[in-house]
Amino acid sequence: MEYTKKKLLKDKLIIFDMDGTLYNFKGGSFEKSGLKKRIAENANSFVQIKLNKTKDEASKILKVLRTEYGDNISIALEEKFNLLRKDYFDYVWDVEANIFIETHKDLNNILSKLDKEFKLILISDAPQIWIDNVLGQLGIAYLFEKEIFSGDGNNRKSFGNRFNSISQYYNILPERIISVGDQENTDIIPACNLGFKTILISKQKQSSVADVRIEDVTKIEDAIKLFNIS
Ligand SMILES: [Mg+2]
Repeated sequence: MEYTKKKLLKDKLIIFDMDGTLYNFKGGSFEKSGLKKRIAENANSFVQIKLNKTKDEASKILKVLRTEYGDNISIALEEKFNLLRKDYFDYVWDVEANIFIETHKDLNNILSKLDKEFKLILISDAPQIWIDNVLGQLGIAYLFEKEIFSGDGNNRKSFGNRFNSISQYYNILPERIISVGDQENTDIIPACNLGFKTILISKQKQSSVADVRIEDVTKIEDAIKLFNIS
């Protein structure tokens, strides 16, 4: 029995990024899609409600926090005002994905084909609630099951060490792991450093670091063939 079970375990893994990888923003970017504006509005009203401030007061608070924390407003509000990060995410990022994202035709088919051979996991710095909304909209949540790692906690790709324990955790050799994403700094370079194969999703840019570049995720099958992972 043990033998059968082992044989069925997948020993190849693909790590997907989500934003800009599994879908494109309408208009081509976070900003142009209008999502950036919506998030800023929601952040403002979150501060108004939680700290009992006017709209202008909330704007001033957020402006000051940005000078110190950049885009990490959730962390800023937690550290400076004791507002729970989770509450911030659940309020600010609970937006309807279909307004802001463009889905790739055939994505579901392509990924479910890969799922027969590879273990598929999703690692995103985005809040869990946004991930749930997007995967729901794309109709692919079932493919990742429990294998979704969000940016809700203290581990984020932007910190540079998010991938470090993946190989041990899944007991899969680094050269049998493929990282797929649209950001060289967070999706590709840390993965290369660990000996993973890498696929950059980018319409414009050739990559000097990724093993392969493709225009969008629907071209992934041919890219994977180049790796010869049997
Ligand atoms: Mg991305």
